[in-house]
Amino acid sequence: MDKPKPKTHEKDLCAFERERHDLEDLLFTGKIKSDEYERRNDELMKKYGERVFPEDTHYFDTFAEYEAFFTQFNLKDGVNGALSHEKSHAQKALELGYSVRYGCTLFIPKNPVSIQGSIVTVAETRARPFVNVFGEGMTSEGLREILMAPEDPSDRDNDMYHKLEE
Ligand SMILES: [Zn+2]
Repeated sequence: MDKPKPKTHEKDLCAFERERHDLEDLLFTGKIKSDEYERRNDELMKKYGERVFPEDTHYFDTFAEYEAFFTQFNLKDGVNGALSHEKSHAQKALELGYSVRYGCTLFIPKNPVSIQGSIVTVAETRARPFVNVFGEGMTSEGLREILMAPEDPSDRDNDMYHKLEE
C-alpha cells in the first residue's frame, strides 16, 4: 500500500477543530443534545468538506493497527509519546466499559521543518492522533477520568476537564 498523502492543510484543519471543539463543549456540558450535535456536526463537515478532506482521517479498531499505521511515516518526533497518550485515554475508557476507536488526521504542515536541539526534521506529512469514545450512559465523571488518564494531559484535555466541572 502506498503511503497516503494528505490534501488537508494545517490552517484549515485548525479552523475546523476550533469550531468542532466549541460544538463538543456544548454537547459535553449538556447545553445541546446528541441529535442536535449530529445535525450541527454534519453542517460543519459540509462547510469544511472542500478543505478538510474526510479521507485524510484514518480509523483503527485496535491499538496494534494504529501503531502499525504510524510506522510507515517519518513521524518519529513525539509520535511514541503521542500514541501512548492516546492509549492512556483508550485504556481508561475501556476500563469504564466504553468502546473506543483510534483515529488520526493527516495534514500538510504549515512549516514542514522542525528543529529540536540540533536535530532538524523535515516532514511533509504530520498526523493529529485522537481517540473516539462510545457508550451508553456516559457520565461527566467518567469523561473527566478519561481526560485525565494520560500522565501529560494536553491543553485541550485540561480545558474540557475544567468545562465539565462547571
Ligand atoms: Zn489527550
